[in-house]
Amino acid sequence: MKFTIAVLPGDGVGPEVIGEAVKALEAVGHKHGHAFEMRHGRIGGNAIDEFGTALPPETLALAKGSDAVLFGAVGGPKWDSPNATVRPEDGILGIRKELGLFANIRPVKAYPQLVNASPLKPNVVKGVDMIILRELTGGLYFGKPKRRWTTSRGRRGVDTMLYTEKEIARILRVGFDLARGRRKKLASVDKFNVLATGRLWREIATELGREYPDVELEHILVDNAAMQLVRNPARFDVMVAENTFGDILSDEAAVLGGSMGMLPSASLSDLPSAGKRAKGVGLYEPIHGTAPDIAGKGIANPMAAILSAAMMLRYSFGLDREAAAIEAAVEGVLAEGYRTQDIAGDGGQVVSTSKMGEVIVGRI
Ligand code: NAD
Repeated sequence: MKFTIAVLPGDGVGPEVIGEAVKALEAVGHKHGHAFEMRHGRIGGNAIDEFGTALPPETLALAKGSDAVLFGAVGGPKWDSPNATVRPEDGILGIRKELGLFANIRPVKAYPQLVNASPLKPNVVKGVDMIILRELTGGLYFGKPKRRWTTSRGRRGVDTMLYTEKEIARILRVGFDLARGRRKKLASVDKFNVLATGRLWREIATELGREYPDVELEHILVDNAAMQLVRNPARFDVMVAENTFGDILSDEAAVLGGSMGMLPSASLSDLPSAGKRAKGVGLYEPIHGTAPDIAGKGIANPMAAILSAAMMLRYSFGLDREAAAIEAAVEGVLAEGYRTQDIAGDGGQVVSTSKMGEVIVGRI
């Protein structure tokens, strides 16, 4: 099969890790007889330097005209001035909005070889294999009114958590569908006891649950979810939450994986059934940022980017077998003892970004 991929490496370690993800895709394409046409574009700080905008129209057109987007990360101290009128983050926020990416999927897996890399006890992280699904385009971050002002009694600010039935139902459906393809457990996070949106969320989750009798639905308050994620995370399969809760819980859960360098993500506008191509353009990115402290040193962990490429094969292209080949290669090199410095806690052979990419490609 033939696919076009918009490759947007961004800033800092973005180009270093995305370069290895591209090699992994090419290797899997070669092995399984698929052609991936890679079209590169600028986004973030380097786009500001060259074009004066974080999301040049050519980059957006490139993304919209491709089958999927492979994105690195954007930002860094160079563009951090409080007086800056354009910000690197505008690049990724703009692309998410333009592509209608409402579902953010973050798998969190504690690889047995890395259980000691987490700051949590090995017996807590052992066996963790879950997905955090975050609603990405609604809620508190976008609801209006959103403003701050000054009164005679001091400064005030307001944000609005607004959700429509349609927005809640479509993200919950993705959650049920994901759970159906896994261990069939969905934890729906809300703040039912205090928020009107929370009550609506729980009501709709309960209604939809009747259409998915094979999926065990659990309602969990967000505060309890935050606690259970560090007490007994292995009990979760798929956890679904609105935008703000999902933002916070997914960063908390990242600790379970041992390093930012291990965690991939996908942002989608639809979830195709297993083995089918997506209708919309999905965006795939490691969850980490540009890591300015290690950028340019060739020591960043490329696994999160490579695993993001595997998610692209699975969710956008319907290539499950090929995705599994990349994931097995990552597990294989971990088992062989290859480590980048961020996951070197227990010893093993510490290798560079490109060497790690090379041994993964070798296994593919
Ligand atoms: P970060 O994720 O870049 O780094 C946090 C820590 O994790 C650092 O110590 C870094 O060295 C380490 N780390 C990150 N990725 C790694 C990898 N692949 N291998 C090994 N170690 C890795 O977060 P930050 O320091 O808060 O942010 C740095 C910059 O990145 C900021 O400008 C921020 O705005 C930006 N950022 C961008 C995105 C994005 O584009 N999606 C996301 C988060 C942060």
